[in-house]
Amino acid sequence: LDGEPIAEAAPAARRTRQARVAWGDHVVTVGGDAPVRVQSMTNTDTVQVIETAIQVKELALAGSELVRITVNTPEAAAAVPHIREQLDRMNINVPLVGDFHYNGHRLLTEYPACAEALSKYRINPGNVGRGEKGDRQFAQMVEVACKYDKPVRIGVNWGSLDQELLKSLMDANAKRSKPWELKQIMYEALVRSAIESAQAARDVGLDPNQILLSCKMSAVQDLISVYRGLSKRTDYALHLGLTEAGMGAKGTVASAAALSVLLQEGIGDTIRVSLTPQPGEARTQEVVVALEILQSLGLRHFNPSVTACPGCGRTTSTVFQDLTKQIDDFLRSQMPVWRDRFPGVEGMKVAVMGCIVNGPGESKHADIGISLPGTGEAPSAPVYIDGERVLTLRGDNIAGEFRAIVEQYIER
Ligand code: SF4
Repeated sequence: LDGEPIAEAAPAARRTRQARVAWGDHVVTVGGDAPVRVQSMTNTDTVQVIETAIQVKELALAGSELVRITVNTPEAAAAVPHIREQLDRMNINVPLVGDFHYNGHRLLTEYPACAEALSKYRINPGNVGRGEKGDRQFAQMVEVACKYDKPVRIGVNWGSLDQELLKSLMDANAKRSKPWELKQIMYEALVRSAIESAQAARDVGLDPNQILLSCKMSAVQDLISVYRGLSKRTDYALHLGLTEAGMGAKGTVASAAALSVLLQEGIGDTIRVSLTPQPGEARTQEVVVALEILQSLGLRHFNPSVTACPGCGRTTSTVFQDLTKQIDDFLRSQMPVWRDRFPGVEGMKVAVMGCIVNGPGESKHADIGISLPGTGEAPSAPVYIDGERVLTLRGDNIAGEFRAIVEQYIER
């Protein structure tokens, strides 16, 4: 090809330090050459041991590689080792992350069994305390992390930013009053809070590889700006997430928009999608969205992907939608078994298309594809395997027959 290439070979790669989050022999590396990790958080009362252990299990089985639980009271801290015990009994080895605010120094020092049962601590420098007292409390938590060799995420959040730091930056830049300048000050405060806290943790003796940073915000453009700045100034592994993203389509789209821009630039070593569950919606939905973001970007593969057209006036029956859903559900439901039996199956592509316009083309590009008949077309559905048209399905059981062909293909 002549001229400038249209695209780079792959998204940018940004190499960070690598943290090790472990429970027993199960080690989840974050950063460095590790794949972008998926994590989530429970919304149960941590004191409720069984309820919390069940939700951790659900999140882990959905694909969450780390699960965070809030540790907010002495009772919650006392419950943590029991939650761990329940998970171990269920053979769920997902590492637990403890989320600490305000009283983390007391809980981590007074409940050593909790400190040991957790695999990582999240510390929010914005509410760890102020001045010398705050420094001492922060150091106490880091000392516990050093003692038990646990990584720490310095988790700065716009909603709980260190107000003294922000005020000192505002005072030092009192002449700047344009909206964009005020934003710059806000971003600077977030990034400085994270980086200065990381340095403080290193001064206490924490291994820099065991430090992760996050600077979460709830607006997409703010988050992108802050993480771009943060990634320029540090090589710590970064935890990425749009905080308080909201519910439903808004939360899903906002998270995908923000995270995708940054991940495409190689920024982000672990992601959390913070969705507010809609009434009746499972907590695991946020894990599903996180997996889909990584898979859509081609950064990781978790399930065979199903390419399906949206359908239009050329698709008159619901066969096409039914078949797409059936195939998608079938592939996902089989993955727990297939993942071990057929390594690489998660990278498979299946196409289910509604008519002859794009059907054959997309089907040929997939590993296995079917082009259903649209309005006015002959009632036949050609099936393509590895780019070749191999047979044509007809009749009332096209869905069942195609599913069997997919299954045979995977077995083969
Ligand atoms: Fe419509 Fe056919 Fe395109 Fe599907 S492939 S959207 S049915 S024109």
